[in-house]
Amino acid sequence: MVRTLDSTERIGVVGAGTMGSGIAQVAAQAGYDVVMRDVETEFVESGFETIEDSLDRFVSKEKLSEADADAALDRIEGTTDLADLADCDVVVEAAVEDMEIKQDIFADLDEAVPEDVVLATNTSTLSITTIASVTDREAQIVGLHFMNPVPVMKGVEVVVGEKTDEAVAEFAHALAEDLGKETWESDDKPGFVTNRILMPWINEGIRAYDEGVASKADIDKGMKLGTNVPMGPLELADHIGLDICLDASETLHEELGDRYKPAYLLKRKVDAGDLGKKTGTGFYEY
Ligand code: NAD
Repeated sequence: MVRTLDSTERIGVVGAGTMGSGIAQVAAQAGYDVVMRDVETEFVESGFETIEDSLDRFVSKEKLSEADADAALDRIEGTTDLADLADCDVVVEAAVEDMEIKQDIFADLDEAVPEDVVLATNTSTLSITTIASVTDREAQIVGLHFMNPVPVMKGVEVVVGEKTDEAVAEFAHALAEDLGKETWESDDKPGFVTNRILMPWINEGIRAYDEGVASKADIDKGMKLGTNVPMGPLELADHIGLDICLDASETLHEELGDRYKPAYLLKRKVDAGDLGKKTGTGFYEY
């Protein structure tokens, strides 16, 4: 038997970066107690700063009362100790997009967390089945792919691995819905639905810029006004983080072949440390 939504009160989040802090925030806003874990105290603190800024924005837009924002913040506990996740009813991993790191985390969680707990991963492109293979609870591993920024974006992609139990997939849908999200489901194929289609679009935008088809601004404007999307490919790449885009593109390239080759300029920018909004410089300055 695995824990269900009815028996879920406490949610563990691994990683306090862009996505982990967002997941912790929406879980706390939905009334859950949250334990947010990162490897260094400074990363946990920076996760809390991100959450406070985001809650402040909701308050100033009058979408949230100050009392509810304070209550949500009070429900989140920060830690650098994985053992503090032991009393969680479900854990969502949102650490860096690296198979070895994720497998290490899942092997450790498998030891630290009771055996009836579902372990979810927020991976953008990595195989749920491969991550699950290092645990003794493969049926209880599921993809819960939140979108960025988590407190604002409505969608969550539920990714079902080779061994994921149907009841666990249902729990993932129910949990995401309880956090105020809408879900869809993808099989465990590279990039799932969203990134399989999004990453080639971003890379083509970068190539078009690198090959002088148009200015950055005109590529973004053309795609926004021409196809009714809220952000063009270069703006969106900066927003996601160019390192995350490159990791995702490399996984797709490795798994699906040359049509997914990352753009040369994307690699060059990541090598230069220009990762988009998070470093202040990407295709644009912030
Ligand atoms: P990020 O770099 O902002 O944050 C990652 C955090 O994980 C860092 O704070 C890092 O210190 C921490 N970390 C590394 N190893 C850890 C460990 N062993 N235990 C705990 N924490 C650890 O990255 P992000 O953008 O938040 O991405 C996190 C995950 O979410 C990745 O798998 C990524 O592919 C996925 N994702 C990202 C986006 C996006 O737009 N950025 C969207 C959807 C999914």
